[in-house]
Amino acid sequence: MKTCLVTGGAGFIGSHLCDKLVDEGFRVVCVDNLITGSEQNIAHLKGKEAFLFVKSDVTDQETYEKLLTERYDFIFHLASPASPNATSPLSYLAHPLETLLANSVGTKHLLDLTKKKGARFLFASTSEVYGDPLEHPQKETYWGNVNPNGLRSCYDEGKRFGEALTMVYVRTHAIDARIVRIFNTYGPRMADDGRVVVDFVLKGLKGESFTIYGDGTQTRSFCYVSDLVDGIYKAMLSEKTKGEVFNLGNPQEYSVNELADAVAAALKIEKKIEKSPLPADDPSRRQPDISKAEKILNWRPSVALDEGLQKMIRYFKEHPPITA
Ligand code: NAD
Ligand code: UDP
Repeated sequence: MKTCLVTGGAGFIGSHLCDKLVDEGFRVVCVDNLITGSEQNIAHLKGKEAFLFVKSDVTDQETYEKLLTERYDFIFHLASPASPNATSPLSYLAHPLETLLANSVGTKHLLDLTKKKGARFLFASTSEVYGDPLEHPQKETYWGNVNPNGLRSCYDEGKRFGEALTMVYVRTHAIDARIVRIFNTYGPRMADDGRVVVDFVLKGLKGESFTIYGDGTQTRSFCYVSDLVDGIYKAMLSEKTKGEVFNLGNPQEYSVNELADAVAAALKIEKKIEKSPLPADDPSRRQPDISKAEKILNWRPSVALDEGLQKMIRYFKEHPPITA
């Protein structure tokens, strides 16, 4: 049985990835310090023989040494806070140093582990490496337009450093590694961390107003989590992916105003809106060009926004959201 290490495996995307890997017949070691994730997300996996949870911080030397005792075939590094919302204690703005370290020191530990174990590695990067993009849609070849020391830089520059480090290990240590740049992803098990889809869904369920930052004309492209996890899986397991970077996201682009309409329609409610100022460095447009992933990974998302929202709403009607 092949073994996968998933860091950040008790988080939103990581827990769905653990599910997929266990379903595909892998043994999964999930490492998470629960800074933004929750054991609730993996409670259903805990009794399984093929699943092991290790509560640990990937930036600690002790964690590295503890992980050295296992054998791994595939290492997925997802551990990092991911929400930019300043109002949430679960955001990377609430944990800026931890975010930088998870993507720098943490990435180095995991690359060293990859080398020692002769494993394959995948780094979970982000569309934020494109910053407020001047090229649209964004291709992997675009270098981005990032504020190197603004509020979001702990995340953006942390991920850019993690990408650079990954490529150094590919070039100088012959490591079999790839990078995926994840665009806005949504679905069940998102924490109540202020990211726009979960925020609108939870407020809508409570009959509260949606808060629109700025004039709501800024755009994002929303990918349902099962599609994203399929893309991550293919990026790790497909041949000819060593040293490659892939955009993973749904290319269907919506303004925040259009998203508010879609969530209200999915909930069958009248939309109520409050306005709030646009946060600093909030990207004005974001849409992935996924032609590379389509060609090399034979991957394309299949869940439309209205269908994904329905699944997410059904989930949150039954499961209270995780708050800090
Ligand atoms: P999440 O906050 O739900 O999951 C991140 C997990 O990492 C959490 O369980 C957290 O406790 C854990 N973690 C953080 N620092 C850690 C550390 N030092 N040691 C061990 N565990 C640690 O967020 P998510 O949305 O599931 O994001 C997962 C990954 O995908 C992140 O790397 C994020 O940057 C990336 N990503 C997500 C999106 C998205 O839209 N969800 C977009 C772009 C990139
Ligand atoms: N946003 C909003 N209301 C909210 C949360 C977010 O208008 O309650 C906006 C935010 O300003 C951004 C977009 O929605 O333009 C997406 O924000 P999110 O926090 O989901 O992630 P981002 O794509 O900025 O990393």
